[in-house]
Amino acid sequence: MSELTQQPVQAEKVATKNIVIKKHQLPPLQYDYAALEPTIDARTMILHHDNHHGGYVKKLNEALEKFPEFQDKSAAWLLCNLDQLPSSIKTAVHNNAGGHVNHSMFWRAMKPSGANEPKGPLRDAINRDFGGFAEFKKCFEDEGAKVFGSGWVWLVCSLKNGANMQVTTTTGHDNPLMQNLLPVLLNDVWEHAYYLRYENRRPDYLKAWWAIVDWEEASACFEKRSQSVNEILTVENERFLAT
Ligand code: MN
Repeated sequence: MSELTQQPVQAEKVATKNIVIKKHQLPPLQYDYAALEPTIDARTMILHHDNHHGGYVKKLNEALEKFPEFQDKSAAWLLCNLDQLPSSIKTAVHNNAGGHVNHSMFWRAMKPSGANEPKGPLRDAINRDFGGFAEFKKCFEDEGAKVFGSGWVWLVCSLKNGANMQVTTTTGHDNPLMQNLLPVLLNDVWEHAYYLRYENRRPDYLKAWWAIVDWEEASACFEKRSQSVNEILTVENERFLAT
């Protein structure tokens, strides 16, 4: 029986021998599912990472299956160049590339026992444009709570010079890169991100979330402020694709 089931696999290997197929990959978490307890429970992390994010990656690859000319593009590139896509896959790529890009950033934005504060140029920029760290946090919580339905809340700044730090929100899985803004920090306010532990109390989730923010990662994102969108999308290419 096992010999019979192996045959199609071997045939497929021969047929694709000289073709490099690139597929988007679900990045593994850099910490255990339970590592963000008690802020985010392990069950939420399993469902959110494996099922929700995993589902976006799977559907993105399925949408691109018949379009090899777009298979070596990063998810971030696809999201920022939707007008170049065939209309038959535009919506699927919009939703699922967005879901893939945002969640990949989101897992890196958090770490067990985060609880530090921004330092250096990022702290200076927050103080400059919000009047202080506490004022920034209040703005981020308020805007996150106001998102109607499913979306994200972001700390962003202008590309090229890091000016004009502001809190912004997006619906669905849209990303500020689509508006030439650099994402520095993000929180997921879709119900799937918090409902098991916080139920309908999204403001409680937003307030508790500061305990697991990785401000060193946010600073690393802020360091990209001198780059162009195209430079950022090129780097992201290597991060999200594997052969
Ligand atoms: Mn999510």
